[in-house]
Amino acid sequence: MSNSLLLNISLRKPINGSYTIDLVCEIKRFKKLSKIIKKDLDCLEESINYENWSSQNVEINIKITSKNFGKVLPVVSGKLKTRYQLACKNCLKPLDKEIKLALALILCSNGDTESEINGYDFWELSDDRIKIHDLIEEVLIMNVPLYAKHDDRKNCITFNEPQVTKQTTLVSPFATLRNQLNKK
Ligand SMILES: [Zn+2]
Repeated sequence: MSNSLLLNISLRKPINGSYTIDLVCEIKRFKKLSKIIKKDLDCLEESINYENWSSQNVEINIKITSKNFGKVLPVVSGKLKTRYQLACKNCLKPLDKEIKLALALILCSNGDTESEINGYDFWELSDDRIKIHDLIEEVLIMNVPLYAKHDDRKNCITFNEPQVTKQTTLVSPFATLRNQLNKK
């Protein structure tokens, strides 16, 4: 069933009718994406189990068809949904980010992107064809946040800490520690 991800979309051959892919697979099926997430998670103070994040579902509901924009090009529309486990760059604890993407992509080679078409994004291919798997993976990678942070202060331990001000920069980092020790 999920082998439909291995099909190629070609810029040269128009798609007859449309092709729908509705399936659920796991993040670990996307090796490059998994590598990027793993690298992000290396920042964590305490590492989390590989299975925990890599077996997260990726829901794929897309339709592939060809449309005539003066030139007949493949169009990929639909939705991708998953969750990424990432390291919060504020507190270095894990965070869970829901990823919901609405796609409306016109696949093209470079040089085809001069004109704008309402409601669609152009997606340049380096070759004249792409595996559906690779396209989805590229889209998912593009949507990995570079500096993920908790957006909820309850979960983020250092969120409430005041910003560095003139006053605090003068305080030795050991002073806080000393104060804590003195309190004991
Ligand atoms: Zn945080």
